[in-house]
Amino acid sequence: MKQREPIVAIATPYGESAIGVVRLSGLGVLEKVLPFVELKGKLKPRYAHFVKVLDAEGNPIDEGIMIYYQSPKSYTGEDMVELFLHGNPLILKKVVELFLQNGVRLAERGEFTKRAFLNGKMDLLQAEAVGDLISAKSELALKSALRQLRGDLSQLIVPLREKILNLCAFVEASIEFEEQDIPTLSEEEIKSQLEEIKTKIEELLATVRTGEFLRKGVNLAIVGKPNVGKSSLFNKLLGTQRAIVTDIPGTTRDFLQEPLNLEGIPINLIDTAGIRHSEDPVEKIGIERSIQKLNTAHLILFVVQAHEPVEEEDLYIYSLVKDKNHIVVLNKADLGFWEGHRKLFPSFVLVSAKDGSGIEELKATILSNLGASVGEGLYISLRHADLLQKSLGVIKLILEKNLKELSPEILMLYLREVQLYLEELLGAITTEELLGEIFSNFCIGK
Ligand code: GDP
Ligand code: ZN
Repeated sequence: MKQREPIVAIATPYGESAIGVVRLSGLGVLEKVLPFVELKGKLKPRYAHFVKVLDAEGNPIDEGIMIYYQSPKSYTGEDMVELFLHGNPLILKKVVELFLQNGVRLAERGEFTKRAFLNGKMDLLQAEAVGDLISAKSELALKSALRQLRGDLSQLIVPLREKILNLCAFVEASIEFEEQDIPTLSEEEIKSQLEEIKTKIEELLATVRTGEFLRKGVNLAIVGKPNVGKSSLFNKLLGTQRAIVTDIPGTTRDFLQEPLNLEGIPINLIDTAGIRHSEDPVEKIGIERSIQKLNTAHLILFVVQAHEPVEEEDLYIYSLVKDKNHIVVLNKADLGFWEGHRKLFPSFVLVSAKDGSGIEELKATILSNLGASVGEGLYISLRHADLLQKSLGVIKLILEKNLKELSPEILMLYLREVQLYLEELLGAITTEELLGEIFSNFCIGK
């Protein structure tokens, strides 16, 4: 177990709370802490000790609970100390500063988890899951992260890598012992094993879209000319989930934004207030700015009145959204239906924000548009998808070829390439850059 230089961080959120945790990890960390704590009795690893924390002059700062974890039995695998103090930022900062002045450095984002990974306490997929678990925005995202933390994703990838290694071994043997009578795999066997791996990878890849939505949320924007019922629809979709309506600060009140949980998918529902056709140049700029913001939307609900013919204003906005991912929503169905909509829009959902009809269908349409086959499961991230996609590309390349024409040496190269991608996925091969990318998204103290 490698022990690196001692680090310290506040592990709980900033602000007043009942308890605040100061966490330390690294070589000789106990010696760094002991001069500043007064404890009764003998220190035992993994036991809760009541301590008084003193400053360099011996003046009391706070009292609380201290736990010492002896390497390798700790989160990071290093020696660790956790101090559970009163949750006042002034106290916690004072304590951290005390250690900073005595040869301990401030931890970087995710550094505790990074060390846990580097010490083999968890693989990279699990370390990533720690970050996901902390930042999960919905129940489903939490469950997915927890499964990944338990190693479920690793358990899917590891056998794939082993299968590839196995194939490599056979191909290698056929190269080295060409003349001898050793068992070899037939072309069919190699291909069927690769087909099997390909199917597994494709299954995993199918989860990335939902995975990204679960991790980051979906921006869903409601647009349309004034008075078509955007705000009413906004409220209807939020239903009882509606929290306090928050104005997005800015010079114009262009946006209202509220979180909405649709079958476990965290959605950021945006009511755009400012979009309408205008000849006034100043207003035009403002409108275009709101339209530009629409580009960050994964999906747009374009609202038109069901009972009235479309107007030029509707068509103008439609021209802005029709090449983006959108759903046409015909609102105010309770007032009637203008048949002309059928010619104009290839598809639409008929709703009434007033009496609630069609709202469930709209929600279903939103979910199916997002391609979200939501359920409890594992959802891979973009990083995973990228590496799986690369593996898949190489496997497909092999499968397209006639193996008889492919020299074993070349086949071997292909297989090794897949192996490397899978190992990068698991974190068996890592670069500082990759680790930096992953752990910089963590919070300090984790
Ligand atoms: P926005 O300007 O697009 O946000 O439209 P609002 O949500 O403010 O609604 C404009 C007017 O239409 C209000 O008087 C609403 O009560 C009314 N309205 C909205 N949705 C419906 C609907 O489905 N049926 C009926 N009859 N009136 C609606
Ligand atoms: Zn409105």
